Amino acid sequence: MNVMVLGAGITGITTAWFLHRAGFHVSVIERQSHAAQETSFANGGQISVSHPEPWANPSAPFVALRWMGRTGAPLRLRPRLDAKQWQWMAGFLRECLPWRSRRNTAAIAALAIHSLTELRRLREEAGIADAYDARGRGILHLFFEAASFERARDRAGELAALGIELRPCSAAQCAEIEPALAASLPRLAGGLYAPGDESGDTMRFSQALAQVLAADGVRFLYGASIECLRISDERRIIEVEVCHAGGRDMLPADAAVICLGSHGRRLLRPLGEPLPIYPLKGYSITAPVRDAACAPLVSLTDESRRIVCSRLGERLRIAGTAELNDYCLEIDPARIASMLEWAETRLPGAIDRERAAPWAGLRPATPGGVPVIGRCRHHENLWLNTGHGTLGWTLACGSASVLAALMRGEKPPVEFPFWGR
Ligand SMILES: Cc1cc2nc3c(=O)[nH]c(=O)nc-3n(C[C@H](O)[C@H](O)[C@H](O)COP(=O)(O)OP(=O)(O)OC[C@H]3O[C@@H](n4cnc5c(N)ncnc54)[C@H](O)[C@@H]3O)c2cc1C
Repeated sequence: MNVMVLGAGITGITTAWFLHRAGFHVSVIERQSHAAQETSFANGGQISVSHPEPWANPSAPFVALRWMGRTGAPLRLRPRLDAKQWQWMAGFLRECLPWRSRRNTAAIAALAIHSLTELRRLREEAGIADAYDARGRGILHLFFEAASFERARDRAGELAALGIELRPCSAAQCAEIEPALAASLPRLAGGLYAPGDESGDTMRFSQALAQVLAADGVRFLYGASIECLRISDERRIIEVEVCHAGGRDMLPADAAVICLGSHGRRLLRPLGEPLPIYPLKGYSITAPVRDAACAPLVSLTDESRRIVCSRLGERLRIAGTAELNDYCLEIDPARIASMLEWAETRLPGAIDRERAAPWAGLRPATPGGVPVIGRCRHHENLWLNTGHGTLGWTLACGSASVLAALMRGEKPPVEFPFWGR
């Protein structure tokens, strides 16, 4: 069976891997000239199994109100006369209900645990373990307010019931785990350490895996923008229409998988398959390490500022913030300045700030943070693996492996609210 994977971000490339291994004939179509040039390009780098709680949780509306109008706040809403934005926000508020948030957390946790197992297996089988600045030193979640540290300790107990290990640490213990935190020690209230978590460069991983797949017979069509899907009278996808430098082509397909990040919604709307995905913009800076002794090797999450930091070889990646502003990818210099200021305060001397490369990307976010995985409701050979929001790197291998199981008609090894069921 010829399967078209639409999109070559981290989700599309891992989907191609698992489908290829499952015996499908796979082609990948991508508008950019290489894999992972959009949201998977310069994200926070964390494989963060220890953070399955979605942004939509019972405290989120209050936190958002507190941040409103504050310069440098992690969340910024730019209201538009746009029904999609307001619908998404209404959905987000609904997902903040305690029982919904608990259900979503459990689904994400199960998928994240499975995903880490699959990632470890994949990188050995594909021979790419050394290709993406991977580090398995865990993630340290840092708290700078005693009250929020206490609340997080309680949450750690609840996450343990879902199979997630988080060790509470005093400020001094945090600095033992990651000596580069010495400068932050006086203000640090404590931390939660997830020893099993990892970090690595998503873009390098995607490109290395794409190369392995191409060498093994998977067809890649870069520079090809997907314009529409042609449907038969029986409501099956029969062709994918692409536009490229040489003109237009209709590519025949037995099945297709949507892995288009924030852009799948626009392709599916004319087919009557609405996707609950909205672009949630985030920023990162990537800078060369200036003084290795000051640059952490353990990946960090500053819970007070919602900023993450990962060591990628001789570079440090710092990422965070969320803006609801449609597909706007403009870089706000104030956001970049705020990240540089974070680096200077928390990790003085760690990076060469003059050479920091700014970046912005659009997280394909569902209101509840749960990705959309499964079969489309009205087109039985059209599949979805998208909407991974804040956790696309963490969940990629697990999502792709369960999708491949579904497409083979097998029962996936994870309890999950699959789409279309
Ligand atoms: C600031 C920031 C920090 C983050 N940090 C982390 C983190 O630490 N850990 C984590 O797990 N996740 C993190 N994420 C989330 C993660 O990066 C995303 O969830 C993930 O990259 C989404 O991957 P994707 O493949 O679904 O989308 P994308 O990477 O956007 O891939 C979609 C692909 O589809 C292609 N495409 C779109 N439309 C068309 C078309 N019409 N024709 C052809 N091709 C098309 C695009 O070019 C693109 O290559 C972060 C995100 C941001 C923004």
